[in-house]
Amino acid sequence: MAIPYGRHSINQDDIDAVVEVLKGDWLTTGPNVTKFEAEIAKRSGTQDAVVVSNGTAALHAAYRAAGIKAGDEVITTPMTFAATAAAAMAEGAKIVFADIDSDTGNISVESVASLITPRTKVIAGVDYAGHPIDIDELKKLAHDNGALLVEDGAHSIGSTYKGRPVGEDADLTTFSFFPTKNMTTGEGGAVVSPRADLLDRARKFRMHGLVRDKAIQRYPNEGDWHQEIHEVGLNYRLPDILCALGSSQLERLDTFKAKRRHIFEAYQAAFADLDGVILPTKRDYVDPIWHLYPIRVPAGERKRIFDYMRANGVIVQVNYIPVYWHPAFEDLGYKRGLAPVSEEYYRGEISLPMYADLSEADLARVIEVFREAVLA
Ligand SMILES: *Cc1c(COP(=O)(O)O)cnc(C)c1O
Repeated sequence: MAIPYGRHSINQDDIDAVVEVLKGDWLTTGPNVTKFEAEIAKRSGTQDAVVVSNGTAALHAAYRAAGIKAGDEVITTPMTFAATAAAAMAEGAKIVFADIDSDTGNISVESVASLITPRTKVIAGVDYAGHPIDIDELKKLAHDNGALLVEDGAHSIGSTYKGRPVGEDADLTTFSFFPTKNMTTGEGGAVVSPRADLLDRARKFRMHGLVRDKAIQRYPNEGDWHQEIHEVGLNYRLPDILCALGSSQLERLDTFKAKRRHIFEAYQAAFADLDGVILPTKRDYVDPIWHLYPIRVPAGERKRIFDYMRANGVIVQVNYIPVYWHPAFEDLGYKRGLAPVSEEYYRGEISLPMYADLSEADLARVIEVFREAVLA
């Protein structure tokens, strides 16, 4: 069987947890939502969390909570999945693409600093491959300029930065629980924040903006059926069924992290001698959960190596096509060449298989096929 680049890990406990909910009274918003939110918050070093239907919804809720209005600027990275930009565009933001650091693939503090304007409302970094962004520097830059830091942690639930969990520091942090991510609920996501006011906005947005607390209603004496919408929201709820799966998965996040580290170290050791290949790096003040293993090969060899690996049963991936290369962005006027470091990173990048259930035999096979491909 072919070896995928990423894959979920489901065990009997996960299955039992889901089946248990199906026998109960709540399929959506119920006790498992509250429980999962408390666990995500604990894991993220925050007081509270808001779970939502996917990582894109989490970004949308975060941008809404940050107060983005039409014409506001959001500075983000092209080295991400389009959702990081698209969710801000849904709120009317103008996207400004910064460049990346060539070693980590993360948004460059210097590049962001050069792009700040009075219209900058949010700096949105992505913890590429699970490696946290320069949170302290980016947060200071944002706050000094009246903006907020949003951290897209779709790759990084379980990572730490200077000993602190991802989620504790940025104004808003979002997670994704898509099956290829570090843990899964099938589809799912979450928003965390150290600020109760921001999280409250995200929570209301998740449920149509409904206000049921009479103390803050405009017309509190209408009757017990009465509820109000003060700011329109959408339905981005995560069902109780999936939250039960999330709680069960979260219990194994440390096991997943250890396995991912083992794979990372095996690759680092196996490819250290390959000329022209650039291995991923890690800053010494972070402890990433490795979501991806992004290795870089000479640009002129990338397609050949990629095709060789796929032809030999290793379904590698490329993360990411610079966001503004997509025709939808090109049509808005973004030009190739805008972020040269990102483009160079992209041209050589290949993501090797990285997931908790990768067997030792398959790991050895990936190493063998990659070495063959490079040395061919
Ligand atoms: C997966 C991903 C998202 C979107 O999450 P979904 O749950 O698929 O909506 C956003 N940003 C990054 C960096 C991702 O990898």
